[in-house]
Amino acid sequence: MKLSRRDFLKLVGASAAVVGLGAKFTDAPVPLPARHAPITPRGSYGVLIDTAACIGCKSCQTACKIANNLPTDGREVALSATTLTVIDFKNISPKPENPVLKPVKLQCMHCQDPACVSACPVGALYKKEDGTVAYDAEKCIGCRYCMIACPFGIPKYDWNSPNPRINKCARNCMADGKRDRPACVQACPNQALFYGKREDLIAFAKDRIAKNPSQYVNQVYGEKELGGTSVMYLSGTPFEQLGFRTDLPSEPLPELTWNAQEKIPAVLATLITLLSGIAWWTHRVESKKLVEVPVKVDVRS
Ligand code: SF4
Ligand code: SF4
Ligand code: SF4
Repeated sequence: MKLSRRDFLKLVGASAAVVGLGAKFTDAPVPLPARHAPITPRGSYGVLIDTAACIGCKSCQTACKIANNLPTDGREVALSATTLTVIDFKNISPKPENPVLKPVKLQCMHCQDPACVSACPVGALYKKEDGTVAYDAEKCIGCRYCMIACPFGIPKYDWNSPNPRINKCARNCMADGKRDRPACVQACPNQALFYGKREDLIAFAKDRIAKNPSQYVNQVYGEKELGGTSVMYLSGTPFEQLGFRTDLPSEPLPELTWNAQEKIPAVLATLITLLSGIAWWTHRVESKKLVEVPVKVDVRS
């Protein structure tokens, strides 16, 4: 379709009007469900990871794979859609020529007020009363907002799937009711993992620090970070040396992500209106052109 200068100016004008109209409509408050009520129930359950006791045997990693029926090649080095917990070896030596590797178990932190839940537009992630941040793959549309929202970089995208979604630890290893503790905790041979009520775990961790002050950093990581997490850590090495974020506020993030998410319907509405306007204009010009084309009659005898 060849567009004359006059048509082009008309199109720009029409689009601007449509966008203006969209903006006018979207200035109005968009009805949205209220943000999920933060669930920080007393009595919710969690996991305490004592990194000082971890020997890096990876039994927890293997047990998680088996319990979640996920494939393994034995060379997993990072979290992925098929590795929901991983033992990450951190070099804590100040001398690069003499590396000292410290194993650290990584997985979803099961935040008390999770940013991923707040960011998910379809409710595929949700907080359960027992403290678990659960995941419903059937609802997931693969938009990856949770990946952007998670301050710990936990949800991973299944790049190899023709219908990609995210995946993360959702404690499905306990969903069948056969276990009284997560599979990873059950598999640990060195008492580095503990499962129990969150407040009991915090009391237990603080007692361990008090009784062994020279062996532990005086902090339970996850007690206060971002409003608290259900998975918490003890460590004999400063947390920043283990790669933990130590710049996190004690307030939950969801208020921020919710404010951002509130704008999404407005932006979408404007975009849809703009595209509809352009489609309408194109269709109109094409129809006009069709009428103007002289009909050729092929008369042969
Ligand atoms: S709680 Fe279950 S799903 Fe989560 S890391 Fe442990 S074994 Fe894996
Ligand atoms: S660690 Fe990330 S994925 Fe896990 S609950 Fe918190 S925000 Fe969600
Ligand atoms: S099973 Fe226990 S000791 Fe072994 S890597 Fe996991 S947390 Fe560490």
